[in-house]
Amino acid sequence: MSIVISGTKLALSIRERLSKDILVAAKIHGRVPKLAVILVGNDMGSLSYVKGKEKAAKEVGILIDTYHYQEDIKEIDVENKIRELNNDNSVDGILVQLPLPKHINTDYIINLVDPSKDVDGFHPRNVASLYLKQTGISPCTPKGVITLLDSKNITIEGKRAVVVGRSNIVGMPMAKMLLDRNATVTICHSRTKDLASITKEADILIACLGKAKYITADMVKEGAVVIDVGANKDPLTNKLCGDVDFDNVSLKASYITKVPGGVGPMTICCLLENTFIAYLGHFKK
Ligand code: NAP
Repeated sequence: MSIVISGTKLALSIRERLSKDILVAAKIHGRVPKLAVILVGNDMGSLSYVKGKEKAAKEVGILIDTYHYQEDIKEIDVENKIRELNNDNSVDGILVQLPLPKHINTDYIINLVDPSKDVDGFHPRNVASLYLKQTGISPCTPKGVITLLDSKNITIEGKRAVVVGRSNIVGMPMAKMLLDRNATVTICHSRTKDLASITKEADILIACLGKAKYITADMVKEGAVVIDVGANKDPLTNKLCGDVDFDNVSLKASYITKVPGGVGPMTICCLLENTFIAYLGHFKK
């Protein structure tokens, strides 16, 4: 039976520390950090993610302003808002909630955000910083996964890590962060042949493919550490579930995360941390 790594508990303790740090910093700098969120349309998932971010930000003492636009807003209006926020010295972080409607060019919009305010770590300059090992803002979800592993003192160096998924926001930066910690990393994707033969070699298995309960016990090595990034709707229950068949995989893994209560809370926590880092950075300029 495996040990469940609770992202909820870990996020709570990090948020407690962060709120204290924010109090101290606000006394020094005369204001608290401020995060601006751009939300377009009424996608249920996006609305709920933004609500969660608003609640978490307020709890740690970060001001949060959400600019909620109708689905048919013109790209130029979003562009103008971002330019305005870039120039507003009271704004430390800008988050564009994805996905954006099809008529808005997501890459173009993300590229407009001032990299020093890009708390999601999606701007090409921050992406390049990660790949070149330079100082920048790291993407929240993979950063959260590394924090989860470190919280249990799980050795990454020298381990065989397998990342299932290669998206720009999760799989690729995840693989790079594990590589930077000296794991031997394999990245799998939808064209990978005989996925199970590769996942079975993993000491550390990161599931970020977005397919409900796809990773089954027969795909996992006895004693592996299994981190489930997935956030899917269970087709049977309609409830939130991960990419891993938790009930059966937890009988084989040494450590495992659950959905909900695993990576999700850590992603939000890292967003708050990134906002605080961006805030401190602005006073160093
Ligand atoms: P994405 O952009 O859809 O990428 C999915 C990746 O998985 C792609 O690289 C795809 O391969 C690969 N894949 C799909 N089916 C596969 C299969 N059968 N075998 C092997 N690889 C397969 O998704 P994402 O944005 O990275 O998100 C992944 C999951 O994490 C989703 O469930 C999402 O909701 C969740 N998520 C959770 C958090 C959190 O905070 N908990 C944050 C972000 C995302 P190709 O490249 O070949 O298409």
